[in-house]
Amino acid sequence: MNFDGWGLQRWANHFNHMLNIANPPNRYRFDVGQLAMETSNAMFPSDPITKVSEENLDGFAGALIPAESRTKWGIVYGSGQSPGRRRFTTAHELGHYLLHRKKYPNGIHSSEADVDGRTQLEVEREANEFASWLLMPLDDFRKQISPTDKPDFDAIGRCASRYEVSLVAAVLRWLRYTERRAVFVTSVDGYIKWAWSSDIAFKSGIFIRTSRGPVELPASSAVAQEQFTLDVRSGVDHAAGVWFNEPVREHSFRSEHYDTAYTLLHLRNAEPKAWNEGEPLEDTYERFMRR
Ligand SMILES: [Zn+2]
Repeated sequence: MNFDGWGLQRWANHFNHMLNIANPPNRYRFDVGQLAMETSNAMFPSDPITKVSEENLDGFAGALIPAESRTKWGIVYGSGQSPGRRRFTTAHELGHYLLHRKKYPNGIHSSEADVDGRTQLEVEREANEFASWLLMPLDDFRKQISPTDKPDFDAIGRCASRYEVSLVAAVLRWLRYTERRAVFVTSVDGYIKWAWSSDIAFKSGIFIRTSRGPVELPASSAVAQEQFTLDVRSGVDHAAGVWFNEPVREHSFRSEHYDTAYTLLHLRNAEPKAWNEGEPLEDTYERFMRR
């Protein structure tokens, strides 16, 4: 069979279909490295993945590396990653193997920024999207959090543990299908590092531009005032003018492992003002990356 024309969604759907049929006890927390080795051996016996291992990668999150003979591949993930990050990195490198190895016979190294979604590089975005689709199948995710829900960090955290991925990976996956206006913000020491808007939020002009450098947190937000209480994590309401020119519900907490604060902003769903006359539907992800 010829897999040349298979894109990232087709590959992810293929594996999800296979996993649904096999239905192993850990259906959503399956061993990604094992899947990579077994399936590549069955589908591409002339250059399978034969090794998945942890190494000190000095600044890289992961890599897809050919054996000297060029007849085998290895996936390496950097040491010190949480189990969730490790799974995502491994899935990301499997994406490179399936989609990009012919173009990159010398392999691919992926930086931290490549794997967490900040990159603009096409191959890195494809690998990330493949990993998201593979690890967090949309049909199942939508059953956990409906597109019209307003989840808090606990609800999204339950999905992160269901799929054994990082909280951020689960938030980004949810943001891509939610029909609500929502924004996710990460900040360090009072400055916004990056922010993502849901599609519908973006279309209504709700986004924070961080591509030109860090942006200060709004002074009267809970996160700027470091109110990292359970109440703020469960959500506090702000009037218009705090975050945007309209009221928002803010959920914020500070990560225990890093000094990063995470903020989830829910806005009211605006009534459409006018119907859309064929404006091309741009890929949300591309727009995130361009900002
Ligand atoms: Zn990569």
